[in-house]
Amino acid sequence: MSKSSPKKSSSPKSRAGQSKAGATPSVRISLPLLGGALLGLVGVILTLWWIVNRRPVFDGESAYTYLVKQCEFGARAPNSAGHKACKNFLVSELKKLCDRVSEQPFTYTDRRDTGLVFQAVNIVGSFKPEAQQRILLCAHWDTRPVADRDSLPANRTKPILGANDGASGVAALLEIARCLKQRAPAVGVDIVFFDLEDMGENRVAGSEDTSKTTPFCIGSEKFAEMNPVYRPIYGVLLDMIGDKDLRIPQEAISSINAPRLVEKVWKAASDVGATAFVKVRGDTVGDDHLPFLRRNIAVIDLIDFDYPYWHTLADTPDKCSAKSLEQVGRVLLHLLYTEPVP
Ligand code: ZN
Repeated sequence: MSKSSPKKSSSPKSRAGQSKAGATPSVRISLPLLGGALLGLVGVILTLWWIVNRRPVFDGESAYTYLVKQCEFGARAPNSAGHKACKNFLVSELKKLCDRVSEQPFTYTDRRDTGLVFQAVNIVGSFKPEAQQRILLCAHWDTRPVADRDSLPANRTKPILGANDGASGVAALLEIARCLKQRAPAVGVDIVFFDLEDMGENRVAGSEDTSKTTPFCIGSEKFAEMNPVYRPIYGVLLDMIGDKDLRIPQEAISSINAPRLVEKVWKAASDVGATAFVKVRGDTVGDDHLPFLRRNIAVIDLIDFDYPYWHTLADTPDKCSAKSLEQVGRVLLHLLYTEPVP
């Protein structure tokens, strides 16, 4: 033994760790240290899992900003400057968020005045465009050219701003796109903005001759015609879902033609506590879901038709709320993220 041997005696732990001459050195790790390291590792794994799997949250305020932004273009009636500017905005926003964006232009010739041709476009933003199993989310982006239900006769030839009737559904879907950009669901998703929904003339009671009247839902009919092989597993249409006093009953045509989908959506609403969704039969509404139902594609219409400012100049952003948009958006996100992996 040399003189340089430590004077102080080693602790039992360090002594036990010393190797004998010629034996393989062994490393002793303190159990508390090992436990701490393991716990830390589990924490890191859980944090990574949470980051990868957490669901983005639908932000009602963000959706409301999208609603206001559309209204800042003014009325978006076909062939107007507001229509063109808003179309450019929607395409540019979707391009920031979706995997693929396409414009599907078409024209519509007035039935009475064949010299009057409307330049229109349906806008499609897709997530996972390669996925076979797809869900359609849609809304109309045009606004009505005439406020024909306004209480003041002088206003009835003016175009509406369409904060609720037009901008609300689109706003919710842009916010959905912002969420899907953060995390794509297992299924493919197509967000479609239909043009020319709201130019229709209300038929005079008793008159069946529609050959000279302008129909509603021109853009969605055109979309179904132009995409004959498109078969989403189901679709949800949003229309007038921004009302501050939101109450969404089960639209009658949807309930009759796609009862299981209605049930599924109301179950999702119950899961997320969206109390605006009420389980009562609503009105029959001719809307953009009809061209799909006629082709046996289940698409339902989420609509609060009890809106006193409908087709009047008073359909402005102050009649809408972030909270209402948020309820609908959270239901849709819940649906998308709980769809089984195809
Ligand atoms: Zn309308």
